[in-house]
Amino acid sequence: MKSDCLQRFIFDNAPIRGEWVSLQESWQEVLNRRQYPTAIRRVLGEMMGAAALLTATVKISGRLVLQIRSEGPVSLMMVECTSENTLRAFAQWDGEVSDEAGLVDLTGGGTLAITIEAEGAKQPYQGVVSLQGNSITETLETYFEQSEQLATKIWLYANEHNVAGLFLQQLPSEEAQKEQAEEDWSRVSQLAATITDEELLTLEIETLLHRLFHEEQVRLYEPAPLKFACTCSRARVAETIGMLGQAEAEEIIDSEGSIEVACEFCNEHYHFDRVDVTELFTNTVSTEGDPDTLH
Ligand SMILES: [Zn+2]
Repeated sequence: MKSDCLQRFIFDNAPIRGEWVSLQESWQEVLNRRQYPTAIRRVLGEMMGAAALLTATVKISGRLVLQIRSEGPVSLMMVECTSENTLRAFAQWDGEVSDEAGLVDLTGGGTLAITIEAEGAKQPYQGVVSLQGNSITETLETYFEQSEQLATKIWLYANEHNVAGLFLQQLPSEEAQKEQAEEDWSRVSQLAATITDEELLTLEIETLLHRLFHEEQVRLYEPAPLKFACTCSRARVAETIGMLGQAEAEEIIDSEGSIEVACEFCNEHYHFDRVDVTELFTNTVSTEGDPDTLH
């Protein structure tokens, strides 16, 4: 079974595009770093599949971030997918969570923010949608309906081993073709709706497409491999400490003995002692004093 890849496909006989994603190793990399309650793991896996599907729809260099903020047991859930085909994800939560908890139980009805940061763009794009219908799928379908006015259908499934997802979207069509396009969409989306979680999780994309759409003309593109990767670094942590200011950083050293920072995404620990902190601010001051770096 092909895994950790995304495959796009189009219908030659209908203005519809599709994508399929399957994650295994990259998902295990996330699960190895933190033990999640079952219900949170399910939503986090679905978000990871969704991030990969959505990143493939925006043709940019950069990154796409899905983020849930809520007042519920899950305070923060974040998934990032980059145009380099890397993924990372984590969730923060408080207290006990039952295995059957749905999205609304986990979040108390919070929001999902979709941020797209294109390299070189002055401002990132951000869309915010309230969490609807107790699933990531329904929330995203509503988002597409509101923001792009393109009919979209998404299927996501995650368990402790794998994540799988399927995406269908109607493409814009000329006024004269609108009626035919609606018929096409209705037919294809109904065929797709017969998919089971089991099929989504276990079938190769070729088999799946044949099973669902054998009377349609579907063209499958080459798979794009996906992998887990984190962009944190000691230099980035040093930058953050620099922003605290020397007085505050030294205060932490005085009371704690050192500054400890752990990356939420990959759980890498960074340690800064008094010598590191002194050096950090000495370097910052000398850089700021350099006229070449002022502008
Ligand atoms: Zn990291």
